[in-house]
Amino acid sequence: MRSRYYCDYCDCTFPDNATNRKNHIDGAVHQQNRQRYYAQHRSLEEVIEESRTKPPCRQFMRDQSCAYGANCKYSHIMFDRYTGNPIVPDEIQSRQKSSQRVRYELPKNWNKKDLSPSLLPPPRKGYDWSNVGQWS
Ligand SMILES: [Zn+2]
Ligand SMILES: [Zn+2]
Repeated sequence: MRSRYYCDYCDCTFPDNATNRKNHIDGAVHQQNRQRYYAQHRSLEEVIEESRTKPPCRQFMRDQSCAYGANCKYSHIMFDRYTGNPIVPDEIQSRQKSSQRVRYELPKNWNKKDLSPSLLPPPRKGYDWSNVGQWS
């Protein structure tokens, strides 16, 4: 029986044989997906260690942003010239946090706008306490 090969990175399957595997793994799509996968799953420590070996990204240093994001081949992390401590930009910190965050999902057919306010997730910026005095 022929088995199928499942590629985790691309979330796809194909008949498993040496030629198919090689073609797939050498393919541009797979390479991209693999890079993206690792970019999303690396810990901050790994990102920092890797950045030490890469030249700084000029675009990022200038604009504080870079179109390549996590896939940039240059480093977005600066190192303090004297202490060698990493200076991690917000962009990277927030990405690391968001990849670790647990996502809550509503049951099927539930619509967020139909929920009563007490069931809604807290607003992004926190609650507005400025009118608290008027509640009573
Ligand atoms: Zn693949
Ligand atoms: Zn960059």
